Amino acid sequence: MASRNKLNILITTIGSIPKHQLLAVAESVRDQFGIHTQTQETLQDIEFALDTERDQYNSTCILETLQDFVQDPAHKIVALVQEDLFIPILTHVYGEAQLGGKACIVSSHRLKEDLKTVSIQQELTLRLIKEVYHELGHTFGLLHCKDSSCIMHYCRSIRDVDRKSENFCRYCGILLEDEIKKL
Ligand SMILES: [Zn+2]
Ligand SMILES: [Zn+2]
Repeated sequence: MASRNKLNILITTIGSIPKHQLLAVAESVRDQFGIHTQTQETLQDIEFALDTERDQYNSTCILETLQDFVQDPAHKIVALVQEDLFIPILTHVYGEAQLGGKACIVSSHRLKEDLKTVSIQQELTLRLIKEVYHELGHTFGLLHCKDSSCIMHYCRSIRDVDRKSENFCRYCGILLEDEIKKL
């Protein structure tokens, strides 16, 4: 069995994501997945993925470029951006992941919608962390979960994001543990 300390989740920011958000994500991911995290510089920008008609960025296209930064099979990479992301069949996405693959991406753009509390920075960071857990879950092969409080639940709106917990349900948690052991 591969040693768990070989595993690594690389976290990269593209553009001007605040440093405190990056650090909060890196720390939370480490604690939630029990895997070492490391911040890494990758792309300067994502302009190559801009769809000028939609004025949004094609997330699938970004993931294809991003995966080349990951050589080690025991590594995953998550990118944080501020631009509005889409995949062709949807108006927008909070993020996207390669199912059972290496790379995922999350944007804070739509997560800024409807911030209500007095500590909006904390609220935004929590949403970002939840979406990162979700997309990383997909890179470990996890699918969407019917349990609306599970982090793998599919969110149609920001209210769904706020409603779900920061945790994997028992079932998804077991699947995740199995997948981590295989790496
Ligand atoms: Zn999903
Ligand atoms: Zn679940």
